Amino acid sequence: MYDIVIVGAGPAGMTAGIYALRANKKVLILEAVAYGGKIVTATEVENYPAIEKISGYDLATNMFNQVKKLGAEVKFEKVIDINDLGDKKEVITKDNKYECKAIILATGVQTRQLGLENENELLGKGVSYCATCDGSFYKGKDVAVNGGGNSAAEEALFLAQICNKVTIIYRNDALRCEKILLNKLKNCSNVEYVYDSNIIRLNGDSQLESITIKNKNTNEETDLPVSALFIAIGQIPENNNFAKLVTLNEQGYIIGDDSCHTNVPGIYVAGDTREKEVRQLTTAASDGTIAALTAIREMK
Ligand SMILES: Cc1cc2nc3c(=O)[nH]c(=O)nc-3n(C[C@H](O)[C@H](O)[C@H](O)COP(=O)(O)OP(=O)(O)OC[C@H]3O[C@@H](n4cnc5c(N)ncnc54)[C@H](O)[C@@H]3O)c2cc1C
Repeated sequence: MYDIVIVGAGPAGMTAGIYALRANKKVLILEAVAYGGKIVTATEVENYPAIEKISGYDLATNMFNQVKKLGAEVKFEKVIDINDLGDKKEVITKDNKYECKAIILATGVQTRQLGLENENELLGKGVSYCATCDGSFYKGKDVAVNGGGNSAAEEALFLAQICNKVTIIYRNDALRCEKILLNKLKNCSNVEYVYDSNIIRLNGDSQLESITIKNKNTNEETDLPVSALFIAIGQIPENNNFAKLVTLNEQGYIIGDDSCHTNVPGIYVAGDTREKEVRQLTTAASDGTIAALTAIREMK
C-alpha cells in the first residue's frame, strides 16, 4: 500500500512528491501523458525564482530528476477512477488498481486552442496562452489578444503595460468581462478592439508575423501585423473522472480550501486544477507543498 498516490506529474504533482518523499512516505506518481505537465511546451521561463532563464522542458526535467532521485515511483498510466473506502483509497487506471492512504489530485488544465493549422508550430514563437508567462518577451511590440471574457481582459490589461499596442479580437459585438475590467481597459489608450471577428490564419513560418481576421458580418478579411497573439478563449479542467467523488465548481475546477483539502477526507487537490485566481508555476509548486504537508499531517 502506498502512503500517497499523486495524480499528475506536472509542477504541482512533482513538488508534492518532493515534500512527501522527504518525509519518508511511500509515493506513487501516476501520469497520463509525459512528465512536466504544461510547462514543457514553454520555450522560455523567466519567472521562477532563482532561475533567471530556463526552457520549460529543462525545468520539468530538473523537477523530474529530483523527484526520481528522492525515490518516487512514477508510472505512465491515466487515472480513470477513484474509490474512497475511508482510510484506504483505490486509484484505478486502465490496467491496474493501486491502494493508498491519501491521494493528491494535480491534474492541471487543458488550454482551449483556436484549432488553426500552424497553431502548435508557432507556440512559443509568437503564439501564447499566457500573458503573465510570455508577455515580457514582447515589450514595446504590437500584440493581439483573442477572447472577450475576464481572462482575455486580464491578459490585455497586463500586456497594455508593457507592449506598444494591444488589439483585442472578439467574435461578438462587445466584451463580456466584468465591468470593473472594462473600466480599466477604457483607461488604456493603447488598447484597440476588433469586434464580430474571428482569427482565421496565423501567418509566419518560424515566427508569427501577422494574423488574418475575418469579419463575421461582412466576410471581409484583414491582415493585422503582430509580434504575438495571446489566445484567451478558456481552459478546460479534465476532472470528469473524479466528479462523482470530489466537488467541482461550475467550470469543472476542483474546490479546495487553503490547505488543499477537497470535500473528501484523505483526498487533496493541488495546482491549476484547483479553483483559484492565479495559475502559475509558483502557485502550482505552492499548492503541491501545501497538499503534501497537509496529507502527511493528517495521515493515520
Ligand atoms: C505555453 C505555456 C507557457 C507557460 N509559461 C509559464 C511561465 O513562463 N511561468 C509560469 O509560472 N507558468 C507558465 N505557464 C503555466 C504553467 O505551466 C502552469 O501553471 C503549471 O504547469 C501548472 O502545473 P500543474 O502541475 O498544476 O498542472 P499541469 O502542468 O497541467 O500538469 C498536470 C499533469 O497531470 C496529468 N494528468 C491529467 N489528468 C490525469 C489523469 N487522469 N491521470 C494521470 N495524469 C493526469 C497531465 O498529463 C499533466 O502532465 C505556462 C503554460 C503554458 C501552456
